[in-house]
Amino acid sequence: RREYHIVVLGAGGVGKSCLTAQFVQNVWIESYDPTIEDSYRKQIEVDGRQCILEILDTAGTEQFKLYMKSGQGFLLVFSITSLSSLTELSELRDQIVRIKDDPLIPLVIVGNKSDLEEDRAVSRARAFSAAQSWNNAPYYETSARRRNNVDEAFVDLCRQIIRK
Ligand code: GDP
Ligand code: MG
Repeated sequence: RREYHIVVLGAGGVGKSCLTAQFVQNVWIESYDPTIEDSYRKQIEVDGRQCILEILDTAGTEQFKLYMKSGQGFLLVFSITSLSSLTELSELRDQIVRIKDDPLIPLVIVGNKSDLEEDRAVSRARAFSAAQSWNNAPYYETSARRRNNVDEAFVDLCRQIIRK
């Protein structure tokens, strides 16, 4: 069985902890302590093979370089209700590529809070073209609240790591 290290990154409040909780424990947590940074293990099957994911839900910039170094795949999360949360990903992505010294590092771009369509501030097209410009990273719109597309985003990332 292989073990893979995944790091969940993005601006505060975009839903990193809610997404992680939905993926790992199948629960919706309305309000999560924004300062809690923790890692979680989950076993999944991808293309007939068992993988153990070690998922780090980050909560700030402490230990930044350290966990970027140990990460094998990155879930870059923004909220579709906040344009600045998307633009922040650009800097994060640059740092990951620099620290890993690898422009082909597995990553997935996630536009969370897709249930808040009425508050949308980032069009699908805009997010998709940003993801394209980051070496054709896959783009998923998720709702942690409704548990939409959550597994798909994590599994895509896992698959990229396996194929690398
Ligand atoms: P983090 O700082 O990135 O870890 O963000 P959290 O996971 O703590 O979520 C921040 C806030 O956004 C909380 O109030 C959540 O209830 C809310 N939230 C997270 N995901 C969603 C979602 O998919 N839809 C909606 N409507 N709210 C969400
Ligand atoms: Mg959090």
